[in-house]
Amino acid sequence: MSTAYCDFHLQSIAGERREGSSERTTRVTNPYDGSELLNIRLANADDLNAAFLAAEKAQADWSVTPPAQRSALLQRVVAIFDTRKEEIIDWLIRESGSTRLKANVEWGAARSITQEAVSMPNRVHGMTLASNVPGKENRVYRKPLGVVGVISPWNFPLHLSQRSIAPALALGNAVVVKPASDTPVTGGLLLARIFEEAGLPKGLLSVVVGSGSEIGDAFVEHRVPRMVSFTGSTPVGRRIGGICSGGEHIKKVALELGGNSPFVVLDDADIDQAVNAAAMGKFLHQGQICMAINRIIVDARRYDDFVARFVEKVKGLRVGDPNDMETVVGPVINARQREGLEAKIATAKQEGATVLLEGEIDGQLVPPHVFGDVTPEMEISREEIFGPLVGIQKARDEAHALTLANASEYGLSSAVFTTNLARGARFAQGIKAGMTHVNDMPVNDEAHVPFGGEKNSGLGRFNGDWAIEEFTTDHWISVQHEPRSYPF
Ligand code: NAP
Repeated sequence: MSTAYCDFHLQSIAGERREGSSERTTRVTNPYDGSELLNIRLANADDLNAAFLAAEKAQADWSVTPPAQRSALLQRVVAIFDTRKEEIIDWLIRESGSTRLKANVEWGAARSITQEAVSMPNRVHGMTLASNVPGKENRVYRKPLGVVGVISPWNFPLHLSQRSIAPALALGNAVVVKPASDTPVTGGLLLARIFEEAGLPKGLLSVVVGSGSEIGDAFVEHRVPRMVSFTGSTPVGRRIGGICSGGEHIKKVALELGGNSPFVVLDDADIDQAVNAAAMGKFLHQGQICMAINRIIVDARRYDDFVARFVEKVKGLRVGDPNDMETVVGPVINARQREGLEAKIATAKQEGATVLLEGEIDGQLVPPHVFGDVTPEMEISREEIFGPLVGIQKARDEAHALTLANASEYGLSSAVFTTNLARGARFAQGIKAGMTHVNDMPVNDEAHVPFGGEKNSGLGRFNGDWAIEEFTTDHWISVQHEPRSYPF
């Protein structure tokens, strides 16, 4: 039995475990009962600078460390994920309000991407290309980028940090992470401790805890990171994308942003299956998932049947203490999110949506709310909800269902239910999104399959070979084997 990690008020900065240097501190609380978990002194721009400089220095040796050693390091991280599984899950429940089910799903996803990263050092390869210049040989080397800056959100903090950290380190980069202020432990400090225990050389992974509005620009603008891997909201992503490709700074950027997943039920769907998938795809983690169902679109011929069975199913979902095995809907992350959801409920009513199911909000526990007769113009359809509310729209037929599904500025995930698989695959081809699932919920992530969005949902793909592409770059080196004759 390993001793539980402690002292999370200390950050991991430039190979040291120490307090941040800002005057300001932040209280990290349990979203369910408001109890204080930690008080952390925040990092400032000097800490950020120290982290980036140490990363730059450490990366030089790491990039030439044999692939087998980098693989072995990642394999030890997987082993620590296993031995510390309960400790990790406990932190996810207490810090991010994850239900036991969601915490297990998240632990599994973070472990899977780490396991996937174990093989990445050996999967990187270059190529040679013929040359039109006599005597020249063209070689293309695939190299690490250098230092990668990772900014992650609070909803799947462990996984959404680790899906950048593990591949980036495996591929010979150094990493500096800025976790979300609500989840500094599960979004970074816990991972730093795991990598430290696995024997990662000092300086290669720093976790800098500071508020996005205060140190976010300094983080993105720092000269050292060659790439910023950002997961979070579309407005912040736009800003970061602007800085990285703006006048002063040119650096690579991966943006995994907001979603507005449509869940389409065609006239030949198995309604029981669709209802089960819709309940899970909407209410897992209280709907605070980028891929969560945002709009349910049902063929008019099956609308009443679907609505009746869906509402019945959702009524039975237990709301409460996330630590309780039976709980499906735990607390939303903070008071700001709750207030935003209260406003969305009020607007849905004002705009004429029919209330099919509602309940009393108690602290940060928001029970499921289901609205019917929803139109694409209503806020609940247009905006990302990121909470346990959902609106159901009626489609005249398949073509109308597709039009409704695509009526969004976002294009992350999506789903369609039909008993005709060829029809499902054809419908899926028509959806403008990075991911579409036939006869399943839109919430899916597999470590070897490309994950990412279209339209305002982002740029780039995570996982498998796509992560290798993201966290490395090409270097063309030509070798002139015999003297070249020039025209002058
Ligand atoms: P957010 O407000 O955009 O915050 C995400 C991260 O960015 C946090 O670490 C935040 O720090 C930081 N940040 C805030 N302002 C910044 C700035 N000016 N410069 C640099 N960093 C800054 O998003 P969130 O509310 O945490 O997460 C919810 C959003 O993430 C939703 O829209 C959801 O759809 C999206 N998301 C997308 C994916 C995906 O894979 N596509 C996955 C999960 C979530 P602070 O916490 O300190 O403010």
